[in-house]
Amino acid sequence: INKGSLTSANGNRTRSPTCSSDRVLNLEQGDPSVFQSYWSKMEDKCAMVISGSQLMSYISDFTTLCWFMEPEFQEAVRRLHRVVGNAVVDDRYIVVGTGSTQLYQAALYALTSPGGPEPVSVVSAAPYYSAYPEETDYLRSRLYKWAGDAYEFDKNGTGPYIEVVNSPNNPDGTLREAVVKNRGDEGKLIHDLAYYWPQYTPIIRPADHDIMTFTFSKSTGHAGSRIGWAVVKDKEVARKMSKFIEMSTLGVSKDSQQRAAKIMGVICDGYKNFKSDELFFEHIRRVMAERWERLRQVVERNQVFSLPKYPKQYCLFSGELIEPYPGFAWLEAKEEEIDSQKVLRGCIKVQGRTGSRFGVAQKYVRVSLLSNEEVFNQFLERLSTIKSVSNGH
Ligand code: PMP
Repeated sequence: INKGSLTSANGNRTRSPTCSSDRVLNLEQGDPSVFQSYWSKMEDKCAMVISGSQLMSYISDFTTLCWFMEPEFQEAVRRLHRVVGNAVVDDRYIVVGTGSTQLYQAALYALTSPGGPEPVSVVSAAPYYSAYPEETDYLRSRLYKWAGDAYEFDKNGTGPYIEVVNSPNNPDGTLREAVVKNRGDEGKLIHDLAYYWPQYTPIIRPADHDIMTFTFSKSTGHAGSRIGWAVVKDKEVARKMSKFIEMSTLGVSKDSQQRAAKIMGVICDGYKNFKSDELFFEHIRRVMAERWERLRQVVERNQVFSLPKYPKQYCLFSGELIEPYPGFAWLEAKEEEIDSQKVLRGCIKVQGRTGSRFGVAQKYVRVSLLSNEEVFNQFLERLSTIKSVSNGH
């Protein structure tokens, strides 16, 4: 361990005190397995058959701007947002992407082409989603470049910029607004609303921003379908985003779009009939609430880390004052100078992601709470064995 030694509940000073197994629990990625038990109960309702002769063409509808988007998918997306009330979709363009990962890149392209003399600065308030810097600079584009923390840019940065606003924010779960003070035409915004769904957060208003991205991965848990969508105000921006997708992948899997439409339809039908045994968002929210309650108990008991506190807010979807239950635990070591990722890895064989990947100190670590029940239980069990972390004294 980098900065100190670890003491387990049984008092042994050792690197992995009471780990019952040698298996590392990988909670670094946010693979959404928590949703699986819900969907296994819905097996028949969501099943669909695609014959060998169906969905073969590249084209869905050449008369529309996003010509590779299946009409059923577009309808299902609009319906889902109307049912949940988390985004304005009337008079907005929808663009489908291979995950919201592709749409992030499409949005950067749309907002910066044709390029000026200097690449446009891309910023997001720290702690920011760790993929933004990586995706922004991966191809060393001359259109845009990663410029780090939006708070710093607000103080010292100059020139044209794009601010990515992730709300609720991955990794720390906070509801956010843009932090760079409005600089007129110089600034553009991308709102990444991957987690703006009622299982994670109160829906405080229907979001209505220029470019909003959503993902099937975190809304319903179907990350493997690689489906995301953007809700876009401006026609030219939507056209350029579609062009980017045409250039990079010549469209988006129709099989996946149809499956997404089916599953979103099943969720919405549940709310129409109110007959469904268990409504989707309520079910997942209950699971998340339970996980957070248990997690807070363990964290409070062992006194090594702290968790953010979130205010209750009125949720338009549920009609109640509710607490956020983010998909990640953002753990902060109580002592400075602690490398929390190393502590978790070295002491209890839990792999999280260090704060430095999110633009902040190593005393923070992000741990996914979206695993299946067994892995989550293991995580809590192991976490409860850490008693103290000292700086080598
Ligand atoms: N934005 C945020 C904030 C995310 O957490 C993720 C997934 N980890 C994504 C975007 C990308 O999601 P996908 O490509 O699966 O749609």
